[in-house]
Amino acid sequence: MSKVSETTLEINLGALKGNFDFLKSKLQSDTLFLAVVKAFAYGSDSIVVGKYLEKIGVDYFAVAYVKEGVKLRQSGVKTPILVLHPQSDNLKLAIQYSLEPSLYSLKLLKELEKVVFDSGIANYPVHMKFNTGLNRLGFKLSDVDLLLNTLAESSLLKVRSVFSHLAASEDINEKKFTENQIALFRSVSEKFINRLNYPVIRHLCNTSGVLNYPEAHFDMVRCGIGLYGYGNFNKKAYELKPVASLKSIVSQVFNAAAGETVGYNRGHVCRLDSKIATIPLGHADGVGRQYGNGVGAVYINHQRANIIGNVCMDMIMIDVTEVECKEGDEVVVFGPSHPAEEAAEVANTISYELITGVSQRVTRKFIK
Ligand SMILES: *Cc1c(COP(=O)(O)O)cnc(C)c1O
Repeated sequence: MSKVSETTLEINLGALKGNFDFLKSKLQSDTLFLAVVKAFAYGSDSIVVGKYLEKIGVDYFAVAYVKEGVKLRQSGVKTPILVLHPQSDNLKLAIQYSLEPSLYSLKLLKELEKVVFDSGIANYPVHMKFNTGLNRLGFKLSDVDLLLNTLAESSLLKVRSVFSHLAASEDINEKKFTENQIALFRSVSEKFINRLNYPVIRHLCNTSGVLNYPEAHFDMVRCGIGLYGYGNFNKKAYELKPVASLKSIVSQVFNAAAGETVGYNRGHVCRLDSKIATIPLGHADGVGRQYGNGVGAVYINHQRANIIGNVCMDMIMIDVTEVECKEGDEVVVFGPSHPAEEAAEVANTISYELITGVSQRVTRKFIK
């Protein structure tokens, strides 16, 4: 692997393909695969990753917001795109770019009907989102009859899918709660299928749902984190490989005598004569202020070096007193050999936050 010359997020498309194949191997052959590419494909690059996933055969995409879907369409992506969390004001744009909204409230449904009517089209594909216990977004189960009546009355909208989202699919201690969500979803989706005289896709599982609840895959699954090689479960049991590696470079190495301090607010005090290295990576790149002062580390030639003092906007300082290194050496923040889960855990967060937090300033580099 070639060395980086600045802070770089390396994205391994071969690993992405491997994760896709692995997740697919957990599904029945006729179960559809929706790839979640919201938030720049979990911090990587939604366009390169989206186009690659389209090429290797995903059936659907999901993004959180309309503007994310617009970007994919503008780059030439043709696969259906579900928008998980649209707002009234961008429904028109959604239609213009053939994006399929999730409907989660009657207000949004009515507004979409109006936009569809004004555009002179019919049977616009929509996805009905139900809240089965996460209590975040979606219709209530008691809305089903009203919704079915509303939808049956007009030919403006066509229900492409009915879906819900699990609250704790990764947590085996919440198995009972999850099984209850699965049962509620089964009953809601059956009502839709019985009432509408056309096929409707049902989907419920995210990555950990796919792995932990094979009986709940329904017609399609929605995988995000697993595609990128992570998850909130014992990954050792699975053959997922981190797709993204955050790497940087040693800018400067210097000695500081015992008693000297390092960084803003003199955050670090050298107890002993120390060797310090400075790395061009800071909170504006995605390594937040929860790191530093002994929290978190980076790796140089597989040797661990703690982040010392306060994280700056564009730099961190690390203690390399015991680490063999020189200016220009490569630094690994996370990647396959130092998973983001580990780096996330010491800062009381999860891989999802760390990988999606890598800012747009960081150069993306794609490898096969
Ligand atoms: C983000 C999201 C997913 C993907 O979940 P992962 O745990 O990353 O697989 C699936 N469904 C919905 C509704 C989401 O918001």
